[in-house]
Amino acid sequence: MTANRFDVIVIGAGPGGAPCAALLAKRGFKTLLIEQNDRAGGKAMTVSKKGFRYELWPVTGGPMYNSRFEELLTELGLETGLTTHDIHMAFYYPDDGGAYRPFFTNRPLPGQGPDPEVMMAQMRWLGIDDAGLGEITRMAMETAALSPYEIDQLDDITYYDYLIRKYNLPKSFYSFLGMQANIVFVLPIDLVAASEFIRTSRDMMANAAGYYSKGGYGRLFERCAKAFEKLGGKVRYRSRAEKILVEHGRVGGVITNKGTFHAPIVVSNAGIQPTVLKLVGQEHFDKGYVNRVRDLVPSLGLMGTRYFLNTPFFKEGANFAFSDESYWNQERSLRAKAGEVPEEMLVFNVIPSNFDPDLAPEGKQCVLASTLCPADPEMRNNKAYWDRLDRMMERVWPGFTATVEAKERYSTRNVSALVRDQVLPKIGGECIGLGQVVGQCGRYKPSPAAPISGLFYVGCDAGGYGCGTHQGVDSAFNVARLVELYHQTH
Ligand SMILES: Cc1cc2nc3c(=O)[nH]c(=O)nc-3n(C[C@H](O)[C@H](O)[C@H](O)COP(=O)(O)OP(=O)(O)OC[C@H]3O[C@@H](n4cnc5c(N)ncnc54)[C@H](O)[C@@H]3O)c2cc1C
Repeated sequence: MTANRFDVIVIGAGPGGAPCAALLAKRGFKTLLIEQNDRAGGKAMTVSKKGFRYELWPVTGGPMYNSRFEELLTELGLETGLTTHDIHMAFYYPDDGGAYRPFFTNRPLPGQGPDPEVMMAQMRWLGIDDAGLGEITRMAMETAALSPYEIDQLDDITYYDYLIRKYNLPKSFYSFLGMQANIVFVLPIDLVAASEFIRTSRDMMANAAGYYSKGGYGRLFERCAKAFEKLGGKVRYRSRAEKILVEHGRVGGVITNKGTFHAPIVVSNAGIQPTVLKLVGQEHFDKGYVNRVRDLVPSLGLMGTRYFLNTPFFKEGANFAFSDESYWNQERSLRAKAGEVPEEMLVFNVIPSNFDPDLAPEGKQCVLASTLCPADPEMRNNKAYWDRLDRMMERVWPGFTATVEAKERYSTRNVSALVRDQVLPKIGGECIGLGQVVGQCGRYKPSPAAPISGLFYVGCDAGGYGCGTHQGVDSAFNVARLVELYHQTH
């Protein structure tokens, strides 16, 4: 019986769950980690096939230096293994004739913020004149001067409102920021909370974004899970949590498809909506809380194609193609939710073997390409999106199609099937998790401590801030500390 008793059970080995379990084991908790897949990594999982190693879709992270990732690896006694690329990232934006032109950024170095000369060149590439540059500089300087307290006060307004209230930014620069909101938060720029945008982009400006991990991005979380086991933690892969046991308002354990396990503390990385509405059951919560949870807005989705090339085509680690027409604001996002397929697509792609050459057979390349879409796992017009993405790839990178020897298409249905149960209509295939929108960020973010004794959420739905996987790790640190304090006081 004691074999099935733990101090803490963590459900899910994603970027939130695996680090949180490892941190708890390090603090001396007898911890069980339950994961439905055969490895850690969640949405950032790395897989292998025919000599390639790759994530199921494009994943890079940020900030690179002085980040929660570095802190985590140091705390677990692991080498960082974080890596970047000489041609770090490339941005593509069309000229007046509609031809996409690149702007390349070089490998960032630790302790160095953005190079002013590179930034100036980037502004020129966006076609920005001196007047526009003056306005952008004013905006950048005033934003950089905000204190943490002043940033917190911006929980109530969107980043769009923050910008248009005070600044008259050139259109192309505005599209550039729109693309950033779409890629970093996977949200329309006129929904992202200004506080979250400013805090996150500050971290990334100071400490670089767009890094990868040797051996695959998901390797980062596999290493956490291994460290967890070394610290005495027990992992059960291919085990699905079916129910969280609750008696008299307290958690008592988890029923899985492989047996029942007991613990007075359960940390769920399965997502706040699946945890409340399915794993615990709404009958255990106050009606107002259930309504709040049901009303939470997810991020948008990303869908796309994994292209396997017979020759290395891309020289960069990550590419972003955007235009004034292709970044998503609320209006474009609503049109897509109504079933429209965007004529002009925003494209984000990552080439794992440009970060780590061991990830592809000699002379080949795997390109993980994506574009924005609704979070709905039951989208009906996937094929139209995939076909248009194929055309967009050829339009931005002429000659690309001729190098493709195989391709695999993925959708929000695959995202949901891999990691997140669909418990509400049109939700489950979200890219990030909870949307970092006004009303769900900073002081409005759901508490990681659920209103049931001993139940916590970890990952992108509660407890952290920042971009995707980084937010998961930030949450892991914060939730591990919360659990420790809960344990001490109960
Ligand atoms: C297409 C795409 C591209 C992305 N690109 C980036 C990027 O470039 N940079 C970035 O930082 N982020 C990116 N992300 C987002 C990032 O992957 C997520 O934000 C992050 O993985 C969320 O972490 P999490 O811990 O909250 O949850 P998840 O990653 O969803 O992990 C949850 C874990 O819980 C497990 N689980 C769920 N339910 C159960 C259950 N009942 N029983 C057992 N186990 C369960 C799942 O299997 C999973 O392992 C991308 C995501 C997608 C889909």
